[in-house]
Amino acid sequence: MVADKEVKGEKDERSKLEKELFSEHKSAWELLSEEKKSAIKYSEDYKEFLDANKSEREIVLWSERLAKKNGFVSIEEATATTKKIYAINHHKNILLIELGKDGLTKGTRIIGSHIDTLRLDLKLSPIYESEPFAMINLHYYGGIKKYHWLNVPLSMHGVVFNKKGEKIDVTLGEKEDEPVFVISDLLPHLEGAEGKEKAAKDIIKGEDLDAIGATIPIEDKKVKEKIKATFLKFFNDKYKITENDFVSAELSLYPAIKSRDVGIDSGMVGAPAHDDRVCSYIAVKSLIESKSERTKVVLLMDKEEIGSVGNTSMESYFLENTLERIAKMRKESITGREILSRSKGISGDVTSGYDTKFADKMDPMNMNKPGYGVAVEKATGSGGKYYGSDANAEYISWIRGMLEEAKIPWQHGEIGKVDQGGGGTIAYLLAKYNMNVVDMGPPVLAMHSPFELASKIDIFATYKAYKAFYEYK
Ligand code: MN
Ligand code: MN
Repeated sequence: MVADKEVKGEKDERSKLEKELFSEHKSAWELLSEEKKSAIKYSEDYKEFLDANKSEREIVLWSERLAKKNGFVSIEEATATTKKIYAINHHKNILLIELGKDGLTKGTRIIGSHIDTLRLDLKLSPIYESEPFAMINLHYYGGIKKYHWLNVPLSMHGVVFNKKGEKIDVTLGEKEDEPVFVISDLLPHLEGAEGKEKAAKDIIKGEDLDAIGATIPIEDKKVKEKIKATFLKFFNDKYKITENDFVSAELSLYPAIKSRDVGIDSGMVGAPAHDDRVCSYIAVKSLIESKSERTKVVLLMDKEEIGSVGNTSMESYFLENTLERIAKMRKESITGREILSRSKGISGDVTSGYDTKFADKMDPMNMNKPGYGVAVEKATGSGGKYYGSDANAEYISWIRGMLEEAKIPWQHGEIGKVDQGGGGTIAYLLAKYNMNVVDMGPPVLAMHSPFELASKIDIFATYKAYKAFYEYK
């Protein structure tokens, strides 16, 4: 939504009174028609990032590489005069800070988003023989519709630590010539009458979400479980690990699907896990590319999809402790909490996009439409706004001013119809510092499925919005 702005060359046929009083909703493609090329180019770079980085650990490494290339120094090597610093937490979170002329005393501009995504984790005893297969025993992570994950090619990403504490990186199934894993569904012929009536949640049970790992028996007469042996032998040959080592591992299956353009006009990007790789990518890029004398922070967190719990989640004290450590190093006498209470925040996350097929689940007046710009979500939660975060009207007013001054198409909405469901983000955990914070990001269709959709113009509008947030007065 951009107020009082006419799309070039288009005759506005609304009455004078309507123009004066009514809010107006125009396609961001039209409002940003002069920047269409830049918007499309932006998504090309984003798609490259998507195809190369899936796990939290991989995204942290990507961010670190980009930060270093742009003059950031690790907190361990930083001194009182270092302006660009990054800090990493357990290889799964990263914080980038660029100190402005006022240091930390006046607070910061901070964008936080999450880099954990929906996936299927290998259990610690992951391999069993179920003749004629060796199966991979999985435990889904986050809020998925389980049937979405059937018949989808899956790749393996993660780390294994052997007894000696040596780390082994595993990536399997991303290259064209590498095999993938798959959870096969039942053929329709055998669905039966009761199968056709099945509720979506009963199509496959969580415990049955297991993928085919191998099918060729090993050539060794003495081995009882020959197919399981094939699987383990492969891992032993390639990674020097045995069944015991899966106990100290974090291995997951992700959709082995490359990002693709969607629609004849290539207006959307389809890919696994825009949520929330999209905001994470944009946040890092916009911090690095924005020009401001202000102190800017970006924070990429883990475990949002399971409720922000644990030492790599937004609930941990990583953010607070890191800022306090930097303040001490710079001899600024201010606590981490004080810095944060004086900061302004964006919780960078996606929201549900208006999907005409499912309009009955949504309030069209208060939904974010793909192609209409960055979504500003004042309140999240479910039911009577339970367990959500609700930004102050004063702050939304400031955000509006910022977006409209920079001529950025934006919209606002709720996740869906009242009492239909809901969800949350890390916003409430930033808000606990007394920081003003609001959710902002592109609307997404098919969220939490193996192939989510986002409009290229919304991705670009989000980039412009994050940059403006760092730069605005
Ligand atoms: Mn999210
Ligand atoms: Mn999510």
